[in-house]
Parts: sequence; C-alpha cells; structure tokens
Amino acid sequence: MPPESDAGIVVVGCGHAALSLVRELRRRDARRALTIVTADSGDVYSKPALSTAHADQRPVQALVSQNAAAMAEALDVRLLVHTRALSIDVPSRLLHTDRGMLRYEALVLATGASPRPLQVSGDGGADAIAVNSLDDYRRLRARLGLDARVAVIGAGLVGCELALDLRTGGHAVALFDSASRPLHRLLPDFASQRIAGALARAGVALHLGQAPDRVVRGPGGYRVGAGAIEEEVDVVISAIGLHVEAGLPGSADIATAAGIVTDDCLRTSAPHVFALGDCVQIDGRLQPFLLPIMHGARALAATLCGTPTAVHYPPMPVTIKTPACPTLMCAPAPADAGRWVVEADDSDGLRGVFLADASDDVLGFVLQGGRIRERAAMLTRLTQRSPVVA
Ligand SMILES: Cc1cc2nc3c(=O)[nH]c(=O)nc-3n(C[C@H](O)[C@H](O)[C@H](O)COP(=O)(O)OP(=O)(O)OC[C@H]3O[C@@H](n4cnc5c(N)ncnc54)[C@H](O)[C@@H]3O)c2cc1C
Repeated sequence: MPPESDAGIVVVGCGHAALSLVRELRRRDARRALTIVTADSGDVYSKPALSTAHADQRPVQALVSQNAAAMAEALDVRLLVHTRALSIDVPSRLLHTDRGMLRYEALVLATGASPRPLQVSGDGGADAIAVNSLDDYRRLRARLGLDARVAVIGAGLVGCELALDLRTGGHAVALFDSASRPLHRLLPDFASQRIAGALARAGVALHLGQAPDRVVRGPGGYRVGAGAIEEEVDVVISAIGLHVEAGLPGSADIATAAGIVTDDCLRTSAPHVFALGDCVQIDGRLQPFLLPIMHGARALAATLCGTPTAVHYPPMPVTIKTPACPTLMCAPAPADAGRWVVEADDSDGLRGVFLADASDDVLGFVLQGGRIRERAAMLTRLTQRSPVVA
C-alpha cells in the first residue's frame, strides 16, 4: 500500500501518555493534523482503577470513561484502532503498521511497557494473568468466580494493591515474592513492614523471602509453589514488573537501555521521533507512574509546537492504594546519599524522612495511615532544597 499523505504528528499508543499529549497539543493548536495509531480499542479508561475496582464492585465496562469514537471526535484526531505499529523508516519518515503505512511529520512513541514474562517451571505459568490493560483486567474478572482462590506473584505496587483489592472483594489471596518484604524496591523497610502487617491482618497469606518457582495445572486450578510452600488456587496473577519491548524502537536503531533513551526534550536518538510515558527511561530507570507523564506531556507539546522545552521533573510522590494502610512515597534519587529516619510512628500513622548524609536536607519521605494528610507540608520541606518546577 502506498504511504498516505502526511498524517501530521503521529502518536503510537492510546494510553495516559498519548492522550495527555494530544490534549496538551490541542490546547496549543486547534488545527494541527494529529493521528493516533493504537493496538487496542482506543477506549479511554483510568489504568490505576484496575487495582481498586473489584472491592468497589465496579463492573469492567464502568471503567471506560469515554469510548474511542467520542474521544477522537472531542480531540479532533484521526484514530486508527486495532492497528499495530511494526517498524519505522526514519529517513523517509514512514511508520509501517499491520494495516499500511503512514507518513509523519513527527512521530511520538507512547507505547507503554509490557509485563515481564513469568519464569517458573510447570505447565501453568503461561495461564498467569498480568494486569496492565483494560483487556487484561477483563480477562481476570471473567476468570474470577465467586469463591475463586487467587495467587498473586510479585509484591510490588500492582501486586499489593490487587492482593488487597481481591481480598477485600471476598477472595482467598496468597501473595508471593522472592523479596523478604512487600514493595522492597519502592519503600524503606519500616514502611514495608506496616504494609505487610495490614495485608496479613486483612487475611492475605504472605509467602515472602522465597522465589515462587512453579505453577502447575491441577484438576481444579493450579498449584503455586515456592520451595516447600504450596498453595492451591483457581487464578494466578503475575505482577513481577515491566519491561520495554525492543521491536519498534529497534527497527529504527533507536537507543534503548532500561527504556527508550531520550534527551531532556524527550527526543529519541532518531530525528523527528520522540517518546513519552512508561516506555521512556528517566534517570536510568523506568518510572511507570502518571506524574512523570503529566510533566512530560506539557513539555513535549510545547516542543512539538515549535518551542523546544526541556522537561523538569519535580518531586513526584506515588500513592500506594492500599486502603488498609494508605501510603504516600516520595523517593530520593538513586544517587542521593543519605539515611532513612522515622520521625513519627504511632496510632495516627507513620512519617519517615530520607536525610542527606552531608546536610540533613530532606531528600525524600514516606507517609502512612492518617499522616498522608501531611503531603503538602512534606513537599514544602523537600522543596526548600529543590524548588518545584510547574
Ligand atoms: C493496576 C495498575 C495500577 C496503577 N496505579 C497507579 C497509581 O495509583 N498511580 C500512578 O501514578 N500510576 C499507576 N499506575 C501506572 C500508570 O497507570 C501508568 O504509568 C500509565 O497508565 C502508563 O501510560 P502509558 O500511556 O505510558 O502506557 P499504556 O497505558 O500502557 O499505553 C500504551 C499504549 O500503547 C499501545 N501500543 C503498544 N505497542 C503498540 C504498537 N506497537 N502499536 C500500536 N499501539 C501500541 C497500547 O495498546 C496502549 O494503548 C498503575 C498501573 C497499573 C497496571
């Protein structure tokens, strides 16, 4: 098929990153030709709600806030759904998809990140559901019979939130992780312990400190094992983290490491190709959260409209949606040298701060329980050192 005439700015993906960018672009330029190419249905939904919807008894369809056609009309974009981008021809500015070619003026990769494959022995590992899209979640809910017993493999943010949500929704839940505490990459030990306590009190069976090594199909479901421990369950969820698919950036030799590598203006190593969202590495790692996308979308829209604008990331707290132990974490940068200090730990909750070794400046903080109301005050303590850039 010959390439279509110029499709303007072409955005690959239709998640939070793509839609945030398109909204920002429309605010700046009502007439610019914009095209979204997406492998999914293009329906608009909030991904964070996927780990809280079951306890609220929200039907899956209620998570769709706007259907694809209505979104395309409201934003005046050309929307190509169920269309997968396959490769990029950088010199000719052509995007090859499984439904033909598009010529772009600028191309934005907003393709997100994919669940890491579960490496376990046994014949059941391939049946594990990783919840990273509305379609994944639809499959999960379809498999959850009333009394379904669930194993969640991976006690990171998504695993802990799903485990508690499903337990609150009435299911027996076992949570496995090779680390000895939940959320070990995100939280300091003392804050992890509070979450572990809340999960255990809610009735989640915690199997921590030993890698789950097998998922075996049985007559009524699956046997999930970690060393000597074994649980019989009906549904297995894999929540072991994300990685960025190499195929599309690789087709154009675009530099990748933990994710797609960009400069401060979110330009990739290929001319006229940009990247935004979970697929991008920030500070050498993936930071798959909404706030980096919000800041990135604003700066990238300005760049694409002719004013090259570097994105500045202010402190970006992450809320862990575990109602049994509400938690807000604002992590220090990986290179920051310092130590965690617990400032308060009582019936009202916990406040911990990460203090710089040299100066005692506050470089990060964690709040739990009722103390999450101290968010604004803590951000002020942080910003005395590093001003928030809007
Ligand atoms: C259960 C859960 C709970 C979460 N809770 C929170 C929270 O409380 N707070 C928070 O900040 N963050 C949370 N997150 C993370 C947050 O939702 C993500 O950071 C954000 O939604 C990522 O948006 P994105 O657009 O970069 O990626 P995605 O939403 O993954 O979108 C990627 C898009 O690209 C499309 N695509 C991929 N490859 C191709 C291709 N080759 N061709 C065409 N289309 C393609 C996909 O179909 C999709 O439309 C949560 C995530 C999950 C899974």
